[in-house]
Amino acid sequence: MATRVIPVDPFDLVVFGGTGDLARRKILPALYRRFCAGQIPKEANIIGAARSDFDEAGYRAFVRDAITELVPAILCTGDAIAAFCNRVHFIQLDAREDDGWETLAQIINPDRIRAFYFSVRPELFADLAERLYRHGMASGETRIVVEKPFGHDLASACELNATLAHHFDETQIYRIDHYLGKETVQNLMAIRFANMLFEPLWNSQYVDHIQITVAETVGIAGRAEYYDRAGAMRDMMQNHMMQLLCLIAMEPPAKFEPGAVRDEKLKVIRALDDVAPEDIVRGQYDASSDKLGYLHDVGNANSTTESFIALKTGISNWRWAGTPFYLRTGKRLKARTSEIAVVFKDAPHSIFGADAGRHANILTIVLQPNEGIELGVTIKEPGPGGMRLIDVPLDMSFAETLGPEAELVPDAYERLIMDVIRGNQTLFMRGDEVEAAWRWTDPIIAQWQEKGEKPLRYESGSPGPEDALGLMYRDGRHWREIRE
Ligand code: NAD
Repeated sequence: MATRVIPVDPFDLVVFGGTGDLARRKILPALYRRFCAGQIPKEANIIGAARSDFDEAGYRAFVRDAITELVPAILCTGDAIAAFCNRVHFIQLDAREDDGWETLAQIINPDRIRAFYFSVRPELFADLAERLYRHGMASGETRIVVEKPFGHDLASACELNATLAHHFDETQIYRIDHYLGKETVQNLMAIRFANMLFEPLWNSQYVDHIQITVAETVGIAGRAEYYDRAGAMRDMMQNHMMQLLCLIAMEPPAKFEPGAVRDEKLKVIRALDDVAPEDIVRGQYDASSDKLGYLHDVGNANSTTESFIALKTGISNWRWAGTPFYLRTGKRLKARTSEIAVVFKDAPHSIFGADAGRHANILTIVLQPNEGIELGVTIKEPGPGGMRLIDVPLDMSFAETLGPEAELVPDAYERLIMDVIRGNQTLFMRGDEVEAAWRWTDPIIAQWQEKGEKPLRYESGSPGPEDALGLMYRDGRHWREIRE
């Protein structure tokens, strides 16, 4: 099942922060893979821009090393890497100084699509926007790509939106959430809106509840300073999990195009219920035999920041009133997995009697580690032992379906960067969406801050604090097991 590749128009892409971790691990390998796939034309230029003291040859060596380390060997021929590196340039500049900007303006082709990827810390976004404008690079076919975090709360997000709006039109701003670029996330829309099977059942009449889990095994080492200011609520819930919730809950847009899709997502966020204090469980991971605990990792014995959060919310609209949404995310959990489970109601009456058991269909959309979709259906247990029912999965793992080609399916960054060049904003967050998400998030955070509430401790390698299980047990439900 080969993927179809449509080349994009020639472009100049400047990666501010081109020597940073994100550029090295994600952006540059993604560009290389698209180059190998023939989607990036040979005339495109990729320009790393950063404070670091590189010359062009040094930066090309940096890019080559990143590719060799992070791209599957099957794609790493010497010729391909050399051809790609030929298109790579470097310019030394500081977002807060004027040196280097004139040179950048001169090497950017004003007649082409120009994209500027802000892969630097958010405090520099405004400086970059301002300098791009001052040096004549903000108009026409210019797009800016803004990394997360987009604001720390509603006020800072509004301020950032206003700052960017000063020099750029909303159609030029691409707020990236890489979860939206995942194959399965888009498939979620295909499943819902290209099949007759699910949509008639996609409402509170048939869906008992929905649970979304994003579990990580890693701690916060390496990002301690940022993370301790953010916590799981700001780092994951306000953006990634909110976006997943929107896609699962939104009404069918009239067309698969940016305005229509983003309008529907916004309506979901606006209809989200406030979260009561008893519907939130926050946790902090403890040390384990071989790893240090959260408080040590952040170097702050008094930190009250959560590395785990579970909460229950609802959506007050005709489709979803009465269906709870349970969301949880955390670090140092039992396994690395992200999934959305749509748990359907039991059949209204069992003709097989109590002994056969009651079973519910569950549609599970797995985002990582192995993207795929599974539908749990109930069948008769094979054999002559009477009518007993068991659940079996109808399983579609992308890796299995696509075979060796699975490695070549574009990852989230590849897809999203190509969308930027194509000018397609469907999978990027609009300013009002981000603000609405903070409007929901801020009061939740304020609740525990006002009370000075400490998160509960949980064992590293566990499913999170015990109380998180209670959040569902008390409703007669249970979380799905966290497993890879
Ligand atoms: P990093 O610290 O590894 O790299 C920062 C880059 O910015 C470096 O290239 C550095 O030279 C450059 N830089 C710093 N100050 C500068 C200045 N004054 N002028 C010009 N360049 C300057 O950071 P990172 O991990 O690559 O993260 C970059 C952005 O991406 C941040 O906003 C981060 O929140 C976001 N992000 C990162 C990840 C990740 O996995 N690393 C994931 C999601 C979002």
